[in-house]
Order: sequence, then structure tokens, then C-alpha cells
Amino acid sequence: MGIFIKIILILVVLYYLYKFFGGEFKLPKKKSDTIDDKEANTLVECCKCGVYITQKEAIKKGECHYCQECKEEI
Ligand SMILES: [Zn+2]
Repeated sequence: MGIFIKIILILVVLYYLYKFFGGEFKLPKKKSDTIDDKEANTLVECCKCGVYITQKEAIKKGECHYCQECKEEI
């Protein structure tokens, strides 16, 4: 009996760790949903090449945003 409870507890812990890290690295799908959607839908202009990217993809530096291609050159 005790072993089963331990296995279940370990699975629960692993599940929560997976969810926690999954939420960290991917798109959070919980409370910050609205903020994320807003960020994902807001377009900003790359300060270097002028291309429009979503605020989520953009790399912010000071007042400027940069696209993925330009981020390595800043
Ligand atoms: Zn750019």
C-alpha cells in the first residue's frame, strides 16, 4: 500500500514540475493569459530593419524593439 501512495505522490510531483516548467518555457496558459494575448497581438517595429514583429517575439532594449534577426547584431 505505502509504495503505491509513494508512486502516486511522485507522479503528482512530476506532473506539477512538468506543468511548471512547461508553463515557463512555452506559452503560459493560466492567469497571465490576457497579458500574453495582448503582447502576442501588439505589433512593434524593429529599430534596426523596420520590420514589424509581435511584442512577444521582439527583443526589447531600452526604448527599442528588435526582431529575431537583428538581436544578434545589437
Ligand atoms: Zn530587425
